[in-house]
Amino acid sequence: MSKIAIVGAGPAGCSAGYHLAKSGHQVTLIDKQCFPKDKICGDGISIESIQAVSTMGIYPQDIKKKASEYAPIHHFFLGVSNQISHSETTKLEAYCIPRFVFDHLLYAKAIDAGCHPLMQMVNKHDWQSQGLYDAFDTIIDARGVYAGEVTAIAIRTYWTLKRQDVSETALAEAQIHFDRSLGANGYGWIFPVSTQHDLIKLNVGVGVWLDEYQKINTNIIQLFKQFIHSNESAQQLFDKVVYQQPPKVFPLATAKKGNKVAEGKILRIGDAANLTDPLTGEGIANAVLSGSYVAQAINMSHTPHAAADNWQYLYESHFEADLRAGLRIKAFRKFSFINYGLIWLMKHNPRVAQQVSHAVAGVVPYHEVLASLKY
Ligand SMILES: Cc1cc2nc3c(=O)[nH]c(=O)nc-3n(C[C@H](O)[C@H](O)[C@H](O)COP(=O)(O)OP(=O)(O)OC[C@H]3O[C@@H](n4cnc5c(N)ncnc54)[C@H](O)[C@@H]3O)c2cc1C
Repeated sequence: MSKIAIVGAGPAGCSAGYHLAKSGHQVTLIDKQCFPKDKICGDGISIESIQAVSTMGIYPQDIKKKASEYAPIHHFFLGVSNQISHSETTKLEAYCIPRFVFDHLLYAKAIDAGCHPLMQMVNKHDWQSQGLYDAFDTIIDARGVYAGEVTAIAIRTYWTLKRQDVSETALAEAQIHFDRSLGANGYGWIFPVSTQHDLIKLNVGVGVWLDEYQKINTNIIQLFKQFIHSNESAQQLFDKVVYQQPPKVFPLATAKKGNKVAEGKILRIGDAANLTDPLTGEGIANAVLSGSYVAQAINMSHTPHAAADNWQYLYESHFEADLRAGLRIKAFRKFSFINYGLIWLMKHNPRVAQQVSHAVAGVVPYHEVLASLKY
C-alpha cells in the first residue's frame, strides 16, 4: 500500500482521499483552510455530480435532511439575449446547496474513510523544502483553479426574496442565459439555492471567458450589473430583492487542448487539471470523478510512474472526448446564429430539446449531442 499526500480538500481531493483510504492506502489530506468554509460557486449540483458523489455514499435524501438551505431542481432553462428561450422539465432531480455545506460533507466522508487531515498551505515550489516529495510515494495536486490554468472569470452574489414574489416554476428552475453582452460564450445564471422558507435565496452570477473578456472594454462588476439590468428574468427578480450580498469574483479553470494531467509522481485532478466544463463552468462532477479515476490509476499500478501513465490514460479515455466536444461547441458559438438556431431547433424538436437540456444538466455527454445533431 502507498503513502499518498493529497494537497487540496475540495471535491476532487476529498473524492480521491475517500477512494484511496477505502482501498487501504495511507492518505494525508492537506488543506490550507479548515472546514466548513465558503467557496464561490453557482452551488449547482448537476445530475452528473449527484451520480459522482453517490460513489462516496452521499445521496440527495441525506443532504436534504442535513442542510437548512437546499433547493430541488426540476427545470432547466436556456435563454439567449431575451429573444428566445426554452425550459425543459427533467424527470431526474438535481439540486442546489451552498458549497459551505456541500464541501464539508465531502470532507467528512474522506476523513471517516480514514484520511489523515493536515491544515497547511503547500505551494508547488515548497513541495521539496517541506519534504513532501520524498516522504510520499505519490502526490495528488488538487489545489483547484490556482494550480490549473485560469481560462475564465466569474462573479456571484446571493439575493434574498419573499417566497410569494417568486413563481413556483422559478423556485425549482436552474436558468442559464447566453447574453451577447457577456461575449460570444459568456453566460449568466440564476439558481435557487434555498426555497424551503418564507424568505428564499437565489444564487446569481455571470461567467466570462478570458479570451472574450479581454476584448470587452469593461470589468466583471460592470458586466454583472449590465446583465441584471438587460436580462428580463434577472431584472424582474432584482426588483423584488429584499437583501443582496456583496458580489464576489473568482476564476475558473476550464478544459484545454493537449492537457497533461501527470508529471513524475505528481498527479493533477479537478480544477488543478483544468477539468471544468468549457460551456457552463460546471466543475464539481469532473472534480469528483477525477478523484475516483486517479484512485483507480494508483490501484492499477505497481509504481508511482505507472500510476502517472495510467492516470493520463484514464483522463484521455474518460474526460478528453467530452471536454474536446465542449470546446468545439464553444468555438461554433462564436457565430451568434448558432445559439438562436439551437434554441429554435429545441422548440421544434422535442428530442433535440431533451438532448441539449440533458447535456447542460450533465446527463448526456456533449460528444453525443454533436453526433445526434448530425442526423
Ligand atoms: C463563480 C463560480 C461558479 C461555479 N458554479 C458551479 C456550479 O454551479 N456547479 C459546478 O459543478 N461547478 C461550478 N463551478 C466550478 C466548481 O466550483 C469547481 O470546478 C470545483 O470546486 C473544483 O473542485 P476542486 O476540488 O478541483 O477545487 P476546489 O473546490 O477549488 O478545492 C481546492 C482546495 O484546495 C485548497 N488549496 C488551494 N491551494 C492550496 C494550497 N496551496 N495548499 C493547501 N491547500 C490548498 C483550497 O482551500 C480548496 O479547499 C463554479 C466556479 C465558479 C468560480
